[in-house]
Amino acid sequence: MFISFEGIDGSGKSTQARMLAETLRAAGREVVLTREPGGSPGAEEIRRLVLEGDPDRWSAETEILLFTAARRDHLERVIEPALTAGKVVICDRFADSTRMYQGLSRGDLRAVVDQLHALMIGREPDLTVLIDIDPATGLARAKGRQGTEERFEDFGVGLQEKMRAGFLSLAEEFAERFRVIDGAREADEIAADVLSAVQAELHN
Ligand code: C5P
Repeated sequence: MFISFEGIDGSGKSTQARMLAETLRAAGREVVLTREPGGSPGAEEIRRLVLEGDPDRWSAETEILLFTAARRDHLERVIEPALTAGKVVICDRFADSTRMYQGLSRGDLRAVVDQLHALMIGREPDLTVLIDIDPATGLARAKGRQGTEERFEDFGVGLQEKMRAGFLSLAEEFAERFRVIDGAREADEIAADVLSAVQAELHN
């Protein structure tokens, strides 16, 4: 089973992905916890190329190509082998992040993202957990973190609002695989809802 977590910066999705992995492992399942951009050695190199350094180094179109290249490598080398071996794959962000960040933040490039996705990736998660949070809360959380990726966190509340709305409309577009979970609560409460959503799908 392939599960992705999505949400704006500071939504708490990475914490939730980790908590779900621990719970499923404790229940005896084999779990691969991975992330994008990155998740395989080659894709992690591409992550560095895109997320570190001058934010204007790449055009929006080139960034879509780079993220798609990273995803293809991650899919071939990590995700597909794990799924074939019967493992649960939990991925912190997947193609929906590219639909939002590269597809919406610098003009409307959603069609380009979708075309490349159809050509080179052609697979969606079985279940996508959207951790929904108010951008002001999310941004405050994200700013508390150290790292080299401040350029994304400096997008500001306006763009995060756009991303939040975008994710919510994506959840309607792909309603069969999306579950929207309120992220403005204690981590344990959120984790319980995430687990129910996953269990319902596992027993399907
Ligand atoms: O999820 P994580 O915090 O690792 O993402 C790193 C940064 O990369 C985020 O701030 C996010 O806004 C950005 N990102 C992006 N395009 C993607 C995935 C992530 O711009 N496809």
